[in-house]
Amino acid sequence: MADSTIVKPDLDFIKDVKSLGGDSLKKCFQCATCSVVCKLTPEDNPFPRKEMIWAQWGLKDKLMQDPDIWLCYNCNDCSVHCPRGAKPGEVLAAVRNYSFINLAFPRFMGKILSQARYLPLLFGFPILLLLLMLRGNTIPSGPILFRNFIPYEVIDIAAGVFTLLVFIGLFTGTNRFWTILIQGIDGAPTLLSASKSYLIPVMSKILRHEKFNDCVANQIRYYAHLCIFYGFVLCLIATSISAGGIWAEKLFFKGNELFLPPWSFFSVVKVAGNLGGIAIVVGCLLVLYNRSVNKDKAGAGTYLDSVFTWTILCVAITGFLTQFARMAEAAFLAYLFYVLHLVFVFYLLAYLPYSKFAHMIYRTVAMIFAEYTNRKK
Ligand code: SF4
Ligand code: SF4
Repeated sequence: MADSTIVKPDLDFIKDVKSLGGDSLKKCFQCATCSVVCKLTPEDNPFPRKEMIWAQWGLKDKLMQDPDIWLCYNCNDCSVHCPRGAKPGEVLAAVRNYSFINLAFPRFMGKILSQARYLPLLFGFPILLLLLMLRGNTIPSGPILFRNFIPYEVIDIAAGVFTLLVFIGLFTGTNRFWTILIQGIDGAPTLLSASKSYLIPVMSKILRHEKFNDCVANQIRYYAHLCIFYGFVLCLIATSISAGGIWAEKLFFKGNELFLPPWSFFSVVKVAGNLGGIAIVVGCLLVLYNRSVNKDKAGAGTYLDSVFTWTILCVAITGFLTQFARMAEAAFLAYLFYVLHLVFVFYLLAYLPYSKFAHMIYRTVAMIFAEYTNRKK
């Protein structure tokens, strides 16, 4: 008797992948053009053709255990060449979204972040939190000093609490992911011990943006991501120096204004922050331009893609507007833009384990797994 395989489709999974941006998945007729044109896929058991049939059949468990969905960089070379308009790049992005939303801890946060109807609630929470942090009920008089509006110590304490929650969310989510990846592998290491062996080569690839550069048909994404990534690093450096100065003044150099903002325009903090902000704006505009010119063939990006790009762009723009309003001594506008800036920063960082930002972390884990299993191109 011939071997037979019983396929048990998960219809809810198909519905969810479609609603997360993979609505074209049923158009695929398995011609394999996508796997041929993909520059990132290994020759052995290539993607994304197999993922397309698994998605069509609702084989959720196979896709959730498939590291290849994370080795795709969504360059959309495959979507541009697909003769059926099945947009495999978008389908894989939707499957990735499904994966990390369902790995999220707590799980309801993953669901909330993926649905536009919760956006007012997600922005309303930090607005309410900041209103509770205000030093008084009125705009402070005198020179524009943001610490007179919302005490820095209160912001730092809130930042510490949410950073801890972000770490707990990421730690739990990535460990759930690793447990799924290593299913059926005898003697597989823990995520921690695999990281010790493989994180350095993986980080080297990430920092060089090696994979983005391999996607030849969509080079614009390489430059866009390079700008956003290193822009973000510069802003992080500026913010860390600034926060370090504030705590140094509080703990060791009481009353020494040298350690407190506002910083001079040519200080390290300002130069790093402004260069980082410019790089982020340029990177986001490139992403939006790229999506708009390729939207017919490759799709306009998922809801999570759009919210993420616009949030980063708004962080940078409100940062600049805050600075310009302060320099122009327009107190009301400066404080208003400052609050808006903090709201967008909160959205970007406090919801990190549940937004598109989490892709960076889950992709890193998948790359560690690929190194461990020697799944190389
Ligand atoms: S997604 Fe498109 S290119 Fe890939 S196998 Fe299906 S029809 Fe062919
Ligand atoms: S989007 Fe790019 S990396 Fe992903 S499968 Fe298609 S061609 Fe390959």
